[in-house]
Amino acid sequence: MEYKDYYKILNVSRGASADEIKKAFRKLARKYHPDVNPGDKKAELKFKEINEAYEVLSDPDKRKKYDTLGPNWQEQFGPPSGAGRRTYGYSGRTSSTPFDFDAGGPAFSDFFEALFGRSGAATGAPGMGTRGPREDLRRRTGDSIEQPVEVTLQEAFSGGMRTFNIQSTEVCPICKGTGEIGNKPCTNCSGQGMIPRNKRIQVKINAGVDNGSRIRVAGEGQPGIGGGPRGDLYLIISVKPDPMFERKGDDLYVDVDVDLVTMMLGGEVPVPTPDGRKLALTIPPETQNRRLFRLAGKGMPHLRGDGSGNLYARVQVRLPTQLSNEERSLFEKLARTRRVETYS
Ligand SMILES: [Zn+2]
Repeated sequence: MEYKDYYKILNVSRGASADEIKKAFRKLARKYHPDVNPGDKKAELKFKEINEAYEVLSDPDKRKKYDTLGPNWQEQFGPPSGAGRRTYGYSGRTSSTPFDFDAGGPAFSDFFEALFGRSGAATGAPGMGTRGPREDLRRRTGDSIEQPVEVTLQEAFSGGMRTFNIQSTEVCPICKGTGEIGNKPCTNCSGQGMIPRNKRIQVKINAGVDNGSRIRVAGEGQPGIGGGPRGDLYLIISVKPDPMFERKGDDLYVDVDVDLVTMMLGGEVPVPTPDGRKLALTIPPETQNRRLFRLAGKGMPHLRGDGSGNLYARVQVRLPTQLSNEERSLFEKLARTRRVETYS
Protein backbone atom coordinates (compact mmCIF):
# COMPACT_ATOMS: atom_id res chain seq x y z
CA MET A 1 0.00 0.00 0.00
CA GLU A 2 1.32 3.34 -1.00
CA TYR A 3 2.23 5.87 1.66
CA LYS A 4 0.52 9.18 0.98
CA ASP A 5 2.40 12.37 1.74
CA TYR A 6 -0.52 14.61 2.64
CA TYR A 7 1.76 17.59 3.13
CA LYS A 8 3.11 17.21 -0.36
CA ILE A 9 -0.39 16.77 -1.75
CA LEU A 10 -1.47 20.09 -0.22
CA ASN A 11 1.90 21.66 -1.03
CA VAL A 12 2.50 22.80 2.54
CA SER A 13 5.39 22.32 4.94
CA ARG A 14 5.24 19.81 7.77
CA GLY A 15 5.00 22.64 10.24
CA ALA A 16 2.15 24.39 8.41
CA SER A 17 -0.45 26.07 10.61
CA ALA A 18 -4.13 25.15 10.50
CA ASP A 19 -4.77 28.35 8.61
CA GLU A 20 -2.07 27.66 6.02
CA ILE A 21 -3.46 24.18 5.51
CA LYS A 22 -6.96 25.50 5.06
CA LYS A 23 -5.81 28.13 2.56
CA ALA A 24 -3.79 25.60 0.57
CA PHE A 25 -6.70 23.20 0.56
CA ARG A 26 -9.18 25.78 -0.63
CA LYS A 27 -6.94 26.95 -3.42
CA LEU A 28 -6.34 23.41 -4.70
CA ALA A 29 -9.93 22.32 -4.18
CA ARG A 30 -11.14 25.17 -6.34
CA LYS A 31 -8.62 24.32 -9.03
CA TYR A 32 -9.41 20.62 -9.19
CA HIS A 33 -13.08 20.66 -8.36
CA PRO A 34 -15.04 18.39 -10.72
CA ASP A 35 -17.44 21.21 -11.50
CA VAL A 36 -14.53 23.12 -12.96
CA ASN A 37 -13.06 20.07 -14.70
CA PRO A 38 -16.03 18.08 -15.96
CA GLY A 39 -15.06 14.62 -17.17
CA ASP A 40 -11.40 15.04 -16.24
CA LYS A 41 -10.46 11.84 -14.38
CA LYS A 42 -7.05 13.10 -13.37
CA ALA A 43 -8.54 16.20 -11.81
CA GLU A 44 -11.13 14.10 -10.03
CA LEU A 45 -8.48 11.82 -8.59
CA LYS A 46 -6.45 14.82 -7.56
CA PHE A 47 -9.52 16.38 -5.98
CA LYS A 48 -10.12 13.25 -3.92
CA GLU A 49 -6.50 13.23 -2.81
CA ILE A 50 -6.69 16.87 -1.78
CA ASN A 51 -9.85 16.25 0.21
CA GLU A 52 -8.31 13.25 1.90
CA ALA A 53 -5.16 15.17 2.77
CA TYR A 54 -7.28 17.95 4.21
CA GLU A 55 -9.45 15.49 6.10
CA VAL A 56 -6.32 14.30 7.91
CA LEU A 57 -4.30 17.51 8.29
CA SER A 58 -7.25 19.66 9.35
CA ASP A 59 -8.13 17.28 12.16
CA PRO A 60 -5.61 17.64 15.03
CA ASP A 61 -6.11 14.03 16.17
CA LYS A 62 -5.75 12.57 12.72
CA ARG A 63 -2.79 14.80 11.92
CA LYS A 64 -1.02 13.76 15.09
CA LYS A 65 -1.56 10.11 14.38
CA TYR A 66 -0.40 10.57 10.80
CA ASP A 67 2.71 12.49 11.88
CA THR A 68 3.57 9.93 14.53
CA LEU A 69 3.42 6.98 12.19
CA GLY A 70 5.41 8.55 9.37
CA PRO A 71 6.49 6.85 6.13
CA ASN A 72 7.38 3.62 7.92
CA TRP A 73 3.86 3.38 9.21
CA GLN A 74 3.32 -0.21 8.09
CA GLU A 75 6.13 -1.51 10.29
CA GLN A 76 4.48 -0.06 13.33
CA PHE A 77 0.89 -0.22 12.35
CA GLY A 78 0.59 -3.16 10.01
CA PRO A 79 -1.48 -3.45 6.91
CA PRO A 80 -5.23 -3.68 7.21
CA SER A 81 -6.63 -7.11 7.84
CA GLY A 82 -9.76 -8.70 6.51
CA ALA A 83 -10.69 -10.44 3.35
CA GLY A 84 -12.13 -8.87 0.27
CA ARG A 85 -10.64 -5.49 0.78
CA ARG A 86 -9.55 -3.38 -2.09
CA THR A 87 -5.84 -3.42 -2.65
CA TYR A 88 -5.43 0.15 -3.71
CA GLY A 89 -7.38 3.31 -3.38
CA TYR A 90 -9.87 5.10 -5.53
CA SER A 91 -10.59 2.10 -7.72
CA GLY A 92 -13.81 0.54 -8.81
CA ARG A 93 -15.57 3.61 -9.98
CA THR A 94 -18.33 2.57 -12.33
CA SER A 95 -20.69 5.48 -12.37
CA SER A 96 -21.34 7.21 -15.65
CA THR A 97 -22.22 10.49 -14.04
CA PRO A 98 -19.44 13.06 -14.30
CA PHE A 99 -18.90 13.22 -10.59
CA ASP A 100 -20.62 11.37 -7.84
CA PHE A 101 -18.86 10.00 -4.83
CA ASP A 102 -21.88 8.10 -3.68
CA ALA A 103 -22.26 6.13 -6.86
CA GLY A 104 -18.56 6.02 -7.57
CA GLY A 105 -15.49 4.71 -5.85
CA PRO A 106 -14.49 5.12 -2.25
CA ALA A 107 -14.12 8.58 -0.85
CA PHE A 108 -10.83 7.73 0.84
CA SER A 109 -7.86 5.64 -0.17
CA ASP A 110 -7.00 2.33 1.41
CA PHE A 111 -4.06 4.04 3.05
CA PHE A 112 -6.44 6.40 4.79
CA GLU A 113 -8.78 3.61 5.80
CA ALA A 114 -5.89 1.54 7.14
CA LEU A 115 -4.92 4.42 9.37
CA PHE A 116 -8.28 5.76 10.42
CA GLY A 117 -10.77 3.05 9.67
CA ARG A 118 -13.31 2.93 6.95
CA SER A 119 -14.33 6.39 5.83
CA GLY A 120 -12.70 7.78 8.92
CA ALA A 121 -16.01 7.43 10.69
CA ALA A 122 -14.75 4.53 12.80
CA THR A 123 -12.39 6.89 14.58
CA GLY A 124 -15.28 9.03 15.61
CA ALA A 125 -13.84 11.98 13.80
CA PRO A 126 -15.11 15.22 15.28
CA GLY A 127 -17.02 17.62 13.11
CA MET A 128 -18.41 14.96 10.82
CA GLY A 129 -21.85 15.41 12.32
CA THR A 130 -24.63 13.41 10.82
CA ARG A 131 -23.48 14.07 7.30
CA GLY A 132 -21.53 11.28 5.77
CA PRO A 133 -17.91 11.93 4.84
CA ARG A 134 -18.85 11.53 1.23
CA GLU A 135 -21.07 14.54 1.35
CA ASP A 136 -18.32 16.33 3.22
CA LEU A 137 -16.04 15.84 0.28
CA ARG A 138 -18.40 17.23 -2.26
CA ARG A 139 -19.73 20.30 -0.59
CA ARG A 140 -18.02 22.40 1.97
CA THR A 141 -19.60 25.32 3.75
CA GLY A 142 -17.63 28.52 3.36
CA ASP A 143 -15.70 30.10 6.19
CA SER A 144 -17.48 32.41 8.54
CA ILE A 145 -16.44 36.05 8.65
CA GLU A 146 -16.35 38.49 11.51
CA GLN A 147 -16.84 42.15 10.76
CA PRO A 148 -16.76 44.93 13.34
CA VAL A 149 -19.61 47.44 13.23
CA GLU A 150 -20.38 50.49 15.31
CA VAL A 151 -23.77 51.45 16.70
CA THR A 152 -24.80 54.47 18.73
CA LEU A 153 -25.92 54.18 22.33
CA GLN A 154 -29.38 55.19 21.21
CA GLU A 155 -29.46 52.29 18.72
CA ALA A 156 -28.26 49.93 21.42
CA PHE A 157 -30.98 51.28 23.72
CA SER A 158 -33.90 51.14 21.32
CA GLY A 159 -32.85 48.38 18.94
CA GLY A 160 -34.16 48.32 15.38
CA MET A 161 -33.09 47.77 11.81
CA ARG A 162 -29.74 48.99 10.52
CA THR A 163 -28.07 48.80 7.14
CA PHE A 164 -24.39 47.81 6.97
CA ASN A 165 -21.92 47.46 4.14
CA ILE A 166 -20.27 44.08 4.39
CA GLN A 167 -17.18 42.76 2.66
CA SER A 168 -16.56 39.18 1.68
CA THR A 169 -15.30 37.44 -1.42
CA GLU A 170 -16.82 35.49 -4.25
CA VAL A 171 -15.48 33.02 -6.73
CA CYS A 172 -14.13 34.78 -9.80
CA PRO A 173 -16.75 34.29 -12.53
CA ILE A 174 -14.14 34.46 -15.32
CA CYS A 175 -11.81 31.65 -14.21
CA LYS A 176 -14.35 29.89 -11.95
CA GLY A 177 -11.95 30.16 -9.05
CA THR A 178 -8.94 28.43 -10.58
CA GLY A 179 -7.00 31.67 -10.90
CA GLU A 180 -5.87 30.60 -14.34
CA ILE A 181 -7.08 30.87 -17.90
CA GLY A 182 -5.17 28.58 -20.23
CA ASN A 183 -2.20 28.37 -17.86
CA LYS A 184 -2.00 32.15 -17.58
CA PRO A 185 -3.04 34.01 -14.45
CA CYS A 186 -6.60 35.25 -14.69
CA THR A 187 -6.57 39.03 -15.10
CA ASN A 188 -10.01 39.51 -13.57
CA CYS A 189 -8.88 38.26 -10.16
CA SER A 190 -5.09 38.66 -10.57
CA GLY A 191 -4.75 34.90 -10.31
CA GLN A 192 -6.37 34.75 -6.88
CA GLY A 193 -9.47 32.88 -7.98
CA MET A 194 -11.55 35.13 -5.76
CA ILE A 195 -12.78 38.69 -6.14
CA PRO A 196 -14.06 41.08 -3.45
CA ARG A 197 -17.77 41.15 -2.82
CA ASN A 198 -19.49 44.15 -1.30
CA LYS A 199 -23.06 44.01 -0.18
CA ARG A 200 -25.49 46.11 1.79
CA ILE A 201 -27.49 44.14 4.30
CA GLN A 202 -30.28 45.01 6.68
CA VAL A 203 -29.82 43.64 10.17
CA LYS A 204 -31.94 43.79 13.27
CA ILE A 205 -30.14 45.26 16.26
CA ASN A 206 -31.53 43.81 19.46
CA ALA A 207 -32.11 46.33 22.22
CA GLY A 208 -29.40 46.00 24.85
CA VAL A 209 -26.46 45.07 22.60
CA ASP A 210 -23.09 45.92 24.10
CA ASN A 211 -19.46 45.94 23.05
CA GLY A 212 -18.60 42.50 21.74
CA SER A 213 -22.18 41.44 21.04
CA ARG A 214 -22.31 39.23 17.96
CA ILE A 215 -25.06 39.27 15.39
CA ARG A 216 -25.17 36.22 13.14
CA VAL A 217 -26.14 36.82 9.55
CA ALA A 218 -26.62 33.40 7.97
CA GLY A 219 -25.16 32.76 4.54
CA GLU A 220 -23.23 36.01 4.12
CA GLY A 221 -19.77 34.61 4.88
CA GLN A 222 -17.22 33.26 2.44
CA PRO A 223 -18.43 31.16 -0.47
CA GLY A 224 -18.57 27.39 -0.10
CA ILE A 225 -16.72 24.85 -2.17
CA GLY A 226 -18.37 22.56 -4.66
CA GLY A 227 -21.70 24.29 -4.47
CA GLY A 228 -21.61 24.23 -0.68
CA PRO A 229 -23.41 27.04 1.10
CA ARG A 230 -21.75 30.26 2.08
CA GLY A 231 -20.51 30.51 5.63
CA ASP A 232 -22.07 32.90 8.09
CA LEU A 233 -21.24 36.48 8.83
CA TYR A 234 -20.88 37.71 12.38
CA LEU A 235 -21.19 41.40 13.04
CA ILE A 236 -19.17 42.29 16.12
CA ILE A 237 -20.80 45.25 17.82
CA SER A 238 -19.02 48.15 19.37
CA VAL A 239 -21.10 50.87 20.96
CA LYS A 240 -19.88 54.39 20.33
CA PRO A 241 -19.12 56.32 23.52
CA ASP A 242 -21.95 58.73 24.20
CA PRO A 243 -21.29 62.33 25.28
CA MET A 244 -24.22 62.30 27.68
CA PHE A 245 -24.66 58.78 29.02
CA GLU A 246 -22.10 56.58 30.69
CA ARG A 247 -22.82 52.87 30.51
CA LYS A 248 -21.84 50.28 33.11
CA GLY A 249 -23.30 46.95 32.09
CA ASP A 250 -26.99 47.64 31.69
CA ASP A 251 -26.94 50.65 34.03
CA LEU A 252 -26.72 54.17 32.65
CA TYR A 253 -25.40 57.29 34.34
CA VAL A 254 -26.34 60.81 33.36
CA ASP A 255 -25.53 64.21 34.86
CA VAL A 256 -28.52 66.48 35.45
CA ASP A 257 -28.15 70.21 36.09
CA VAL A 258 -30.43 71.47 38.84
CA ASP A 259 -30.67 75.12 39.85
CA LEU A 260 -29.74 76.18 43.36
CA VAL A 261 -33.26 77.05 44.44
CA THR A 262 -34.66 73.62 43.44
CA MET A 263 -31.78 71.95 45.24
CA MET A 264 -32.63 73.92 48.39
CA LEU A 265 -36.42 73.94 48.26
CA GLY A 266 -37.15 70.78 46.28
CA GLY A 267 -39.02 70.40 42.99
CA GLU A 268 -39.08 68.38 39.82
CA VAL A 269 -36.47 68.16 37.05
CA PRO A 270 -36.45 66.37 33.69
CA VAL A 271 -33.99 63.48 33.23
CA PRO A 272 -33.06 62.61 29.63
CA THR A 273 -33.13 59.03 28.33
CA PRO A 274 -31.15 57.73 25.32
CA ASP A 275 -34.27 57.58 23.15
CA GLY A 276 -34.94 61.28 23.62
CA ARG A 277 -37.76 61.00 26.14
CA LYS A 278 -37.65 62.88 29.45
CA LEU A 279 -38.48 61.38 32.81
CA ALA A 280 -39.60 63.50 35.77
CA LEU A 281 -37.38 63.26 38.83
CA THR A 282 -38.54 64.62 42.16
CA ILE A 283 -35.81 66.54 44.01
CA PRO A 284 -36.34 66.63 47.76
CA PRO A 285 -35.53 69.83 49.67
CA GLU A 286 -31.89 70.36 50.68
CA THR A 287 -30.52 67.96 48.12
CA GLN A 288 -26.74 67.80 48.20
CA ASN A 289 -24.63 68.31 45.12
CA ARG A 290 -23.62 65.14 43.16
CA ARG A 291 -26.31 63.07 44.83
CA LEU A 292 -27.18 60.01 42.77
CA PHE A 293 -30.84 59.22 42.12
CA ARG A 294 -31.86 55.81 40.88
CA LEU A 295 -34.59 55.56 38.26
CA ALA A 296 -35.26 51.83 38.55
CA GLY A 297 -35.64 49.87 35.32
CA LYS A 298 -35.02 52.91 33.12
CA GLY A 299 -31.52 51.89 31.95
CA MET A 300 -30.45 49.65 29.07
CA PRO A 301 -32.80 46.80 28.23
CA HIS A 302 -31.31 43.41 29.12
CA LEU A 303 -30.18 41.75 25.90
CA ARG A 304 -31.30 38.39 27.27
CA GLY A 305 -34.40 38.16 29.36
CA ASP A 306 -36.91 40.80 30.31
CA GLY A 307 -36.45 44.09 32.03
CA SER A 308 -33.81 46.77 32.00
CA GLY A 309 -30.97 48.08 34.09
CA ASN A 310 -31.26 51.29 36.08
CA LEU A 311 -30.80 54.87 35.07
CA TYR A 312 -28.80 56.89 37.58
CA ALA A 313 -29.20 60.66 37.56
CA ARG A 314 -26.35 62.56 39.21
CA VAL A 315 -27.55 66.04 40.16
CA GLN A 316 -25.20 68.94 39.55
CA VAL A 317 -26.08 72.21 41.19
CA ARG A 318 -26.22 75.15 38.80
CA LEU A 319 -25.21 78.28 40.69
CA PRO A 320 -26.79 81.57 39.69
CA THR A 321 -24.82 84.28 37.89
CA GLN A 322 -25.52 87.95 37.17
CA LEU A 323 -27.38 88.47 40.42
CA SER A 324 -29.79 91.38 40.59
CA ASN A 325 -29.45 93.87 43.45
CA GLU A 326 -32.39 92.27 45.18
CA GLU A 327 -30.93 88.80 44.87
CA ARG A 328 -27.60 90.03 46.14
CA SER A 329 -29.24 91.54 49.23
CA LEU A 330 -31.13 88.29 49.80
CA PHE A 331 -27.88 86.35 49.73
CA GLU A 332 -26.36 88.89 52.13
CA LYS A 333 -29.32 88.40 54.44
CA LEU A 334 -28.87 84.64 54.11
CA ALA A 335 -25.21 85.03 54.95
CA ARG A 336 -26.02 86.94 58.11
CA THR A 337 -28.74 84.44 59.09
CA ARG A 338 -26.41 81.50 58.68
CA ARG A 339 -23.48 83.48 60.19
CA VAL A 340 -21.34 82.92 57.13
CA GLU A 341 -18.23 85.01 57.45
CA THR A 342 -17.74 87.40 54.58
CA TYR A 343 -14.59 89.34 53.83
CA SER A 344 -16.13 92.42 52.21
ZN1 LIG B 1 -10.24 34.86 -12.12
